[in-house]
Amino acid sequence: MKTVDYIIVGQGIAGSILGYLLEAEGLNLIIIDNGHKTSSSQVGAGIINPITGRNYLLAWEYALHLQEALLLYERIEGETQKPILIRRNIVRTLFNSKDINNWQARFNQEAYQHYILENATLGDYELLLSRQLQYGEVTEAYQLNMPLLVDYLAQKWERSGQLLEEEFDHSKVVLTTENVQYEEIVAKGLIFCEGQQVKANPFFDYLPIGDSKGEILKVRIPGVRTTKMIKQRRFIVPLKEDEFWFGSYDRWGALTGETTEEGKSKLVDELSNMINRPFQVISHEAALRPTTPDRRPLLGNHPKYERLYIFNGLGTKGASLAPRWANTMANFLLRKNMLPPHVDVNRFVDMAEQARS
Ligand SMILES: Cc1cc2nc3c(=O)[nH]c(=O)nc-3n(C[C@H](O)[C@H](O)[C@H](O)COP(=O)(O)OP(=O)(O)OC[C@H]3O[C@@H](n4cnc5c(N)ncnc54)[C@H](O)[C@@H]3O)c2cc1C
Repeated sequence: MKTVDYIIVGQGIAGSILGYLLEAEGLNLIIIDNGHKTSSSQVGAGIINPITGRNYLLAWEYALHLQEALLLYERIEGETQKPILIRRNIVRTLFNSKDINNWQARFNQEAYQHYILENATLGDYELLLSRQLQYGEVTEAYQLNMPLLVDYLAQKWERSGQLLEEEFDHSKVVLTTENVQYEEIVAKGLIFCEGQQVKANPFFDYLPIGDSKGEILKVRIPGVRTTKMIKQRRFIVPLKEDEFWFGSYDRWGALTGETTEEGKSKLVDELSNMINRPFQVISHEAALRPTTPDRRPLLGNHPKYERLYIFNGLGTKGASLAPRWANTMANFLLRKNMLPPHVDVNRFVDMAEQARS
């Protein structure tokens, strides 16, 4: 038998950041992941964006999330010596006079002035875009290379023998009041960070996780280099040299995170209309996001089994939310700090009771 403090199931951005923080506090961990088979952290663009939606609203507690994200990602970047977090403004296309008026109205609000430029500087997009429209620009935005961060920690934990690359089998969990046992491992607790696949977890399958699928393309646009991201219905995000992320094509109620021919052809058509250069598709990828109906994360204890925990529900914003809420989760585990009710998984306790009855 091997004894550790916690077993973490799932090594996307949630499991990675939580594991990193717990380990920094001296805890002993085992991380179990099935090779990122269903990971949305491998597919997402990692955009950290202060201004969201068609009404250009300031994202939920953005300054707080950004502050913790910068501290943590820069710390990890210091270890990897690789560019994990890149500051990139976002050019936003304003399609019509309503958009232009809304943008102007936001620009005139004090709370937005830190995040919005009235007019954009297009740079290389000026030559790339097929139509010239009006544009605004978002500042204080970043791009997190989620696959690079996850891979760095996976390699580190693989070298130390802490990462088990396998499918977690929930039926093998043995619970006692003192500990939890999984095969040959005994731990104080088991923390589920399975992303949208928590729907297949018999302990937490009562949670109202959504079925929001996103499909994306990675493309090469020969000879084109941009530093900013652009949002014109969908995002173009620079990856490296002349490679870009384009997406996403979203569907709700999806049962699987598979790519579809429909998704690919929509994305190819849209990018062909949006830019005036030829491009090659490098890859076509898809994943399901772990969304919640109230758009708040899920942290805390199982309502019945005190050795089981969850850190999930990062929805469409894993890159910006993970550091702050992983910190909150770590403080809950280590120092028994109370969880804010709006992120406590037990706000859905009625659903657990209904599922049991
Ligand atoms: C198309 C798309 C675009 C996105 N763009 C952005 C963006 O620009 N910015 C942003 O912040 N967010 C974005 N997101 C959302 C972001 O990807 C998620 O918020 C985040 O990745 C969720 O992280 P997670 O660790 O909770 O889940 P995941 O990344 O899904 O990680 C869960 C891990 O658990 C593993 N796992 C699950 N079940 C088991 C099991 N039984 N046994 C072993 N392993 C298991 C999975 O394989 C995976 O590795 C996007 C998502 C999509 C789909």
